[in-house]
Amino acid sequence: MCGIIGYIGNREAYPILVQGLHRLEYRGYDSSGVALVDPSGELRIYKSKGKVDELERFARSKELGGTIGIAHTRWATHGEPNDTNAHPHCSQSGRIALVHNGTIENYDVLKQALRQHGYDFRSETDTEVLVQLIEYVMDSSGCTLFDAVREATHRIVGAYAIAVIDRENPNQIIAARRSSPLVIGISGTEAYYLASDATPIVEFTDEVVYLNDGEIAVINRNEKLRIVGSDNSESKINITKLEMSISELEKGGYPHFMLKEIFEQPKTIADCISGRISPDGERLTISGVLENRERFLKARRIVIVACGTSWHAGLIGKHLFEEFCRIPVEVEYASEFRYRHPVIGEGDVLIAVSQSGETADTLAALELAKGQGAFIFGICNVIGSSIPRATHSGCYIHVGPEIGVASTKAFTGQVTVLAMVALAVGRLRGTIDDERFRSVTRDLRRIPMLIEEVLKLDGRVRELSKIFTYAHNFLYLGRGYNYPAALEGALKLKEISYIHAEGYPAAEMKHGPIALIDNEMPTVVIATSDSIYEKTVSNIQQVKARNGRVLAIVTEGDEVASKIADWTLEIPEVCECLSPLLTSIPLQLLAYHTAVSKGRDVDRPRNLAKSVTVE
Ligand code: GLU
Repeated sequence: MCGIIGYIGNREAYPILVQGLHRLEYRGYDSSGVALVDPSGELRIYKSKGKVDELERFARSKELGGTIGIAHTRWATHGEPNDTNAHPHCSQSGRIALVHNGTIENYDVLKQALRQHGYDFRSETDTEVLVQLIEYVMDSSGCTLFDAVREATHRIVGAYAIAVIDRENPNQIIAARRSSPLVIGISGTEAYYLASDATPIVEFTDEVVYLNDGEIAVINRNEKLRIVGSDNSESKINITKLEMSISELEKGGYPHFMLKEIFEQPKTIADCISGRISPDGERLTISGVLENRERFLKARRIVIVACGTSWHAGLIGKHLFEEFCRIPVEVEYASEFRYRHPVIGEGDVLIAVSQSGETADTLAALELAKGQGAFIFGICNVIGSSIPRATHSGCYIHVGPEIGVASTKAFTGQVTVLAMVALAVGRLRGTIDDERFRSVTRDLRRIPMLIEEVLKLDGRVRELSKIFTYAHNFLYLGRGYNYPAALEGALKLKEISYIHAEGYPAAEMKHGPIALIDNEMPTVVIATSDSIYEKTVSNIQQVKARNGRVLAIVTEGDEVASKIADWTLEIPEVCECLSPLLTSIPLQLLAYHTAVSKGRDVDRPRNLAKSVTVE
């Protein structure tokens, strides 16, 4: 959430910062701003409500020179999105500018204290407290900016990634983090780039350093980077090579990132299983499982923690682990798990699922479980992000950067990895027989080709979506493996079309939601040919008997459900445990086309942002 970008080097900073903001806009887009120290030594701050385009329009006629600057695209937590609350925030004397991602929990107490020292506040944000505190520390003790940042960060409670510049020293950026991500791109000592993630850095350099929690970076012009740890010792500079390419960050001819990412799924699933399943389906290599065989052999329980779409993938994971490994599984919202008193012990394996690897609640939940002796396994997409660095082991989903705020390819990647991990653990424990193992791995290898088939439904889904734009409410029903797929379908529709949608286990419908059914509320039912197909068909009958309208997702050649439903979408046959990988595709397309028909901003839906780094 929120994007930070900073630059110091020999080039003009503004174009680099604005381009970086565009790349980071998927992380937050309610307002944005930039701070530059111009060649005359003036600190120039330009901020604007709305998208980065607004900032560019506003700044066009202004003084934009300078080779050092910081910028921010905001996802408001404290104070409405307006020009004043937008970052960068400036200290009282106008000397220091700061951008911040995160929340400062004790901001009110600090604000009262600073008021007593004569500080006034312009914005409603928690962030402004921090910049004033830094200035106060500098003024009262005469210390350097670095010392003041260190002192101020000790005094705040909460999460932060910050970048700070001082008009009096236009050769330095100070950056710090705790629980919010920051990465520094290095081009020799000629230029440094600072950002919330690597997406704005990759076009300038492939060498990056990820800042760890509690570290402060001292980025001086034309000097070697210094990083200081929380114990005040110099940290080793660990350079990581980026593997991302710029084409992965562009729309590649599609009108939206979301549509591009939906259509990428045959390739992303192929990449995800590549090198892990042998061509004959006999061997499955998940090194994170093999290297920790004992922990998986002795596991008495698996706890999956996640949020949002990842939580839905986790629910499918529960089915997979219980079926293949015969281990009891609990799936928890990370935000709930971390604030109760969960019973966790050494026999537990905790699986943390997060696309960004930065989800604040998931990170806190895994730290809690780690402290109580659980073995922590991560399933993430962004390489080098905080969760993979905090876990004992894990498995990347390798689906490439996901820019669309509504997750699509990351969801199918997570389900694919959960299936492979469950198969690997099942084989280790001897709870899955060889024939079953082979039939699932072979089907996994067919998934990219089958998704290719499903994507041919695109035109038909587009037509159907036009019928549905009138609807104010949708019900999504599924059972077994496809109940989480129904939840995910409903979430997708809500997120980007703003139509209210609920997902339910199909049989639960009669315990309440059935009261809502009429001919104005479409019901989407996943009724593929599986072990509970007949039961699902009965649920469709119950909807139809109440004058409801049904869109059914069925298996090719279906003759029963398709006769009762008003509309059907056929998907190819696949084993039941992998069917969500196919059923979720038409639901993604349905959400996408419905949102487009309603004129929504699909890639930047209102109030949402990617990478939820606040709790
Ligand atoms: N809490 C800060 C604000 O509301 C930062 C939010 C963000 O991470 O974008 O301005």
